[in-house]
Amino acid sequence: MIPGPVEISPAVLEAHASPPPGHLSPRVIEAFGASLERMRGVWRSGPSGQPFVVAGSGTTAMEMAAANLVGPGDPVVVVHTGYFSDRMAEMLRRTGAEVRSVTSGPGEAPGDDEVRDAMEALLREGKKPRALFATHVDTSTGVRIDPRPLAHLARTYGALAVFDGVCATGGERFEMEAWGADVYVTASQKAIGLPPGLALMVVSERALAARSARKQPPPMVLDWHEWLPIMRAYEERRPAYFATPATNLILALDVGLREILEDGIDARIVSHERTGRAMRAAWSAMGLAPVPAREDLQANTLSALRYPAGAGPSLVARIAERGVVVAGGLHPEIKDRYFRVGHMGYAVTRTDMLVRTVEAIEAGLLGEGARVESGAGAKAVRSALV
Ligand code: PMP
Repeated sequence: MIPGPVEISPAVLEAHASPPPGHLSPRVIEAFGASLERMRGVWRSGPSGQPFVVAGSGTTAMEMAAANLVGPGDPVVVVHTGYFSDRMAEMLRRTGAEVRSVTSGPGEAPGDDEVRDAMEALLREGKKPRALFATHVDTSTGVRIDPRPLAHLARTYGALAVFDGVCATGGERFEMEAWGADVYVTASQKAIGLPPGLALMVVSERALAARSARKQPPPMVLDWHEWLPIMRAYEERRPAYFATPATNLILALDVGLREILEDGIDARIVSHERTGRAMRAAWSAMGLAPVPAREDLQANTLSALRYPAGAGPSLVARIAERGVVVAGGLHPEIKDRYFRVGHMGYAVTRTDMLVRTVEAIEAGLLGEGARVESGAGAKAVRSALV
């Protein structure tokens, strides 16, 4: 129950567990093509969104967005909500971009006005902002931003809107087409519900045009132009080769996306909302305080919780003794003061796993010597979900 890799469904596990098929095998061709089509549904990108599936992880996907869109001297704005937006800013700096950071303390998020001010400041200096980068859910703080006004803001200033959805895609509401977002990246091991190993993203026509306008091409393996003919070929159910895809993961992706779309992406998002509410009810009943400073900043895909009086970092090992794995803190400023629990993907369909997690945390807290009302958390989560 860490915030990725997460539990996966039996069908995804089975699809993944076969002798490695070749990338030209009919099974892989069909699974690849169908996955690309399904990604548009999960991303709500509309038909013009271009999906990419590349071996790698979320960091690879972030790097692809940076490398294809931004070059030396390009002014960009980064909205910081934690460790992963700091990483995005560092990647952008390494491309030579001029990075304007809009920051906030751990558990907070900058206001849209502050982001607008950063855009205005660039304009006053005669610099046209090229792109706005933000992290939909920052896994280090459990803070979720609202991408919609930020995408709108980017549009207003003629900038591309790029979102890191690694801890959000398939779990938090995102309407790529309706909101006018340009790039939404994720990784396979989170709410998409696969083992780790795939970098996944959907890219708008505007973003592809921005890549085409680049004079200096990005490193070859990151270049959308190298991958575009491959994606188009598989979607037309033809094999193609640029670099070997993670074939077992492609088979798993087909099944994972099909499971998400079986009831529809809306229903999947609603399940995550219900789960998020249920887990928050449990934390509140157990007297645990969230890291996000306000209710509307709390993600549905994970919880970041401050250690209560009497408990500390040894709590994570105590919970593991009860057979449930949660994660420690990650944000460097508050690392030893909180822990994190993932509740995304397949787990949202498994009330038993969620209840067991809450029970293990209660037992761990009691073991640490913290005061918790016995059974209160499990009762809260059950009554919210059953
Ligand atoms: N962004 C966010 C929000 C993440 O949670 C993570 C991984 N935890 C990453 C980026 C990096 O992804 P990966 O570890 O798959 O490279």
